[in-house]
Amino acid sequence: MGKKIRILGWDGADPDLAAAWMADGLLPNLQRLTAGGGYCGPLGGVTPPVTFPAWTTCVTGVTPGRHGIIDFTVIPPGTRRLHFVTGANRRAPAVWETLSAAGARCAVLGVPATWPAAPLNGVMIAGFDSPLGGGITPSHVYPETLLPLARHWRYADTDEHFTGRPGWHHRFAEHLLARLEDKLAVALQILDMEPWDFFMCVLGEADAASHHFWRFMDARSPRYCRDDSLATVILRAYQRLDAFLGEVMRRSDGDTVIMVVSDHGFTGAGIHQASLNRYLEECGWLSRRRHPAAGVKQMLLRAVPATSRARLARQFPRLFGGLEARARMGGIDWSRTRAWSEELSYFPSARLNLAGRDPDGIVPPEKYRETVMELAALLEAWEPVRRAVPRWECFDMPGQEFAPDLIIEPAAVNGYPWGFCRRQAGPSTRILDQDSYAGGREQGFNGVHRNPAFFAANVSCGAAAPSLTDITPTVLGLFGLPAEGLDGSDLLAAGKKSFPSRSNKGLFPESAKVHRRLTPREEAELEDRLRRMGYLD
Ligand SMILES: [Zn+2]
Repeated sequence: MGKKIRILGWDGADPDLAAAWMADGLLPNLQRLTAGGGYCGPLGGVTPPVTFPAWTTCVTGVTPGRHGIIDFTVIPPGTRRLHFVTGANRRAPAVWETLSAAGARCAVLGVPATWPAAPLNGVMIAGFDSPLGGGITPSHVYPETLLPLARHWRYADTDEHFTGRPGWHHRFAEHLLARLEDKLAVALQILDMEPWDFFMCVLGEADAASHHFWRFMDARSPRYCRDDSLATVILRAYQRLDAFLGEVMRRSDGDTVIMVVSDHGFTGAGIHQASLNRYLEECGWLSRRRHPAAGVKQMLLRAVPATSRARLARQFPRLFGGLEARARMGGIDWSRTRAWSEELSYFPSARLNLAGRDPDGIVPPEKYRETVMELAALLEAWEPVRRAVPRWECFDMPGQEFAPDLIIEPAAVNGYPWGFCRRQAGPSTRILDQDSYAGGREQGFNGVHRNPAFFAANVSCGAAAPSLTDITPTVLGLFGLPAEGLDGSDLLAAGKKSFPSRSNKGLFPESAKVHRRLTPREEAELEDRLRRMGYLD
């Protein structure tokens, strides 16, 4: 194989930020990469712009409805439980699996939703969904001989909840950039191991920086806070990624295609906040039970320091694993509830309480579509919601059974989107107190995901609007492998199209893959990791 491919994943890199910093000469390697007629600009993302489905679309070439990974967690149909999603839930082959079968040598580092690491013709360090537990274990790497080196690959290992503590942002900035440094050192060692045909490395630090430091950078943000040392944290993360790009370019010949890809862009969060369940309650669609005991337990657990929480999670996995489900679903009187929301700040959505599907469901199945449309109209009439999209419009494949019934796009005030959060009482909308602007458990982050994502490459791409679904077909095309049946198209092929084709329904039937279930302990550890990163409330 003559061609070689390098994909550098800059999680959360935004096309507007990258363009502005390139124009100022601050990302010189990105500039050099694309100067000779390459592409640099927006990349169509997935709905909603969330890490797991977006990266999985990037590495499979199919939409989330087909690869089946919609979010970090799923509610298995017919239950009120939560399951944590891992790479074992992916229903479509990853591009390195196809390349491995064709004999290409692959190195895959840090791609989200790839834990536990699965065999390939090469090496893998699994993505950040890996349970931290007792540190990096054989389940995090392939082959096991990679373990000693992988121990220097640092997973996100700080508590991102207590951001209001004095000095937290300064400490976190230092930690984040040091962590990036350690991971890049490992990545460079692996890059130099052999002349890989396919090398892909995803780094999450630009995303983490954008969540926490947007308000220090963006003087127009309603959450703006002037702090000169924190104003450049996001830029410094981009610059370190740019320097690594330079290392990769230096090691590449003229036959190497280099791509920089992100999963979604970023924008600042507004100060207006809404609670979907409080609104549904006000409108008579949701009723609550009096259930003070669960609330007290919840509060007690929140008061436990993060380090002890990890220990608790290991000692009492069942108790701990059930808590998140209780936080999202507890206290709802299902016999008098037609619709409800998990109230995830990064994924606003609503679900019906459907008879025949949900335990104690009350909406008749024959009224499903009609009720979803009625709810969509109700939500779209509410100030915080720009659009409420039925799931069959977002996910047209079997994977939609795991998705909420309505996906909600927030409205914006002066360009800064409404936030959604969990509230048990009080009005359904409010304006944040100034001391909550940094974000935290109840406030969401001060920087939030948006579409489009970002794409840059040292090859010109003819499509007017490249999208995440196009990356895998383009890689397969470079290796002369067929990409039929995928939702995207080869950006470098003649006669390419820039819209998804959906001609091959059912290409990856559900039975194509045997899922490995997490043990209760692994599930509890995974939950603890996501919680500490601020994804769960
Ligand atoms: Zn993020």
